[in-house]
Amino acid sequence: MVFGTTAEAIVITDASRRVVAANAAFARITGHQEADVLGQDPDQLLGTGHDRDPSFYRQLLDPVGSAYWQGEITCRRASGETFPAWESISAVRDGDLRVTHFVAAFSDFTAIHVAEEKLNHLAHHDTLTGLPNRLLFDDRFERSIEQARRTQQRCILLFLDLDSFKVVNDTLGHTTGDELLRVVAGRLGDVLRRSDTVARLGGDEFVVLAGSTQPEDASHLAQKILNALRAPFDLGDEQIRISGSIGVSVFPDHGNDASQLMRAADIAMYSAKSQGRNRYQFFTEDMSERTHERMHMEQGLRRAIESDGLTVHYQPQIRLADGQVVGIEALVRWPDPDQGMISPMRFIPVAEDSGIIETLGIWVLRRACRDIVGLPTTAGGHMRLAVNVSVRQFMRDDFVARVLDVLSETGFPAEALELEITESTLQVIERSAGILESLKQLGISISIDDFGTGYSSLGVLRGLPIDRIKIDRSFIVDLTDSNDARSMVEAMLALGRSLRMDMIAEGIEHGDQAELLRQLGCNEGQGFLFSRPLPVDELRRHLAAVRRDNECGAP
Ligand code: C2E
Ligand code: MG
Ligand code: MG
Repeated sequence: MVFGTTAEAIVITDASRRVVAANAAFARITGHQEADVLGQDPDQLLGTGHDRDPSFYRQLLDPVGSAYWQGEITCRRASGETFPAWESISAVRDGDLRVTHFVAAFSDFTAIHVAEEKLNHLAHHDTLTGLPNRLLFDDRFERSIEQARRTQQRCILLFLDLDSFKVVNDTLGHTTGDELLRVVAGRLGDVLRRSDTVARLGGDEFVVLAGSTQPEDASHLAQKILNALRAPFDLGDEQIRISGSIGVSVFPDHGNDASQLMRAADIAMYSAKSQGRNRYQFFTEDMSERTHERMHMEQGLRRAIESDGLTVHYQPQIRLADGQVVGIEALVRWPDPDQGMISPMRFIPVAEDSGIIETLGIWVLRRACRDIVGLPTTAGGHMRLAVNVSVRQFMRDDFVARVLDVLSETGFPAEALELEITESTLQVIERSAGILESLKQLGISISIDDFGTGYSSLGVLRGLPIDRIKIDRSFIVDLTDSNDARSMVEAMLALGRSLRMDMIAEGIEHGDQAELLRQLGCNEGQGFLFSRPLPVDELRRHLAAVRRDNECGAP
């Protein structure tokens, strides 16, 4: 009964290997009925190959040898199709140790093989894009380097990171983000040669490996990839544009092994990003110094946030008509024991790239609300507090909720809070004006920082609930001696008036600038002329002094 019902194919032969019995599973698996195979040699029938190995049965027949063998074979079905099988063969011996029969049992291994291949594929490929993963890539990379070494050729590595991918993921959702990665993978495949390897390392990082003799090939390939990303991506109902930054390293010029080359390309990619993105850069030695500096700064910044090593200064914003201080801008400061005061111009970009900005931004907001809550303007009423918000903070799903938390925690009135976003933030959030609307509904105002330096279209501004435009310092610097700067400022003021937005000029250093701005109809001003950014206690003293002056000056 066991013989008849087991799932394994069993075939019994005599000592000269002629079939004497085969079970039902044998018929099912091989397609040969028992009656048709009686008296035949199963090895010839199934093409197992044992019969072609003269020592194979000799060993099984050897009275002192093992009477058992097992291993993987390839079998042929009656239909001619072959399949992998796991087979065990036992030699059955009589009392004199002479072999009387052989029993061979085997099962169809196809399913296991398929599963094994799948596992193998999974282990070496990225499930999202189907591209090779880091493991497989590393393997191919090592081999290409070896080959390049032998043939004295070059080997090119390109490290691609998509620009602002996180924003897409955060605003349009992960499903869209995934879809974008798949389409990017497809486009990369289209521009590469068959002999090149493209892999996804994770996130939005891709690497391309190309063998070559000329370094020009690398520029050519990098440019081809940037071009391939240029066309808009249709993702469901959304059409988006995205660019990439590419770092290039070349064997043997930039490193002797895979890990050196990988690091070099990664560093070059960061350099491409900081050069303004959507470009490629070859690795150079001085880049690695800069990266080192950056990493150092990143670590220092994390420590500073944890140990309360940052502080906030406040710069007054003046109503030009009467000199009253009606608002202040919070500006983060990082006093470092070794380096002195580190400028936010240096560490904000690092904080943005590394994601630290999300913690830092909320920290500044909380600190500023705590410092300024209850402070009156010199004209009476609660002081307006402007806090800078970077795009990465703004894009977080929980941004509005976090702002609300800080307000309720500190008791700061929403109506006195203003968030400064830059024009570039506006470009990204064109679609998610919803965030601005919900802030507006809470009573929070919005101002556009560094206005004039980006390329916002009038249309974009028109649709959004923006309260104030801050004219960038670069226009104010030349205001009194350049007609161009003056007409730009006039145009901006006209734009602001037509959109019913308040206007403030940044970076006023001289009295004649302030006077001209007042005449041109600019409501407010901010700059060293009035005051530098001050620590909170100095700010209080400053406000008291302004109040006194204004009172004395009043008729
Ligand atoms: P911003 O928001 O445009 O801030 C104005 C900058 O101009 C400040 O530089 C301020 O000190 C400087 N400034 C003000 N008046 C004058 C003037 O009359 N002459 C000159 N030459 N400069 C003037 P700061 O504090 O170095 O900040 C630089 C930038 O760093 C800020 O530009 C802002 O974009 C960013 N930043 C500062 N604090 C934060 C923050 O808490 N969060 C974020 N996301 N960014 C911040
Ligand atoms: Mg600002
Ligand atoms: Mg500004």
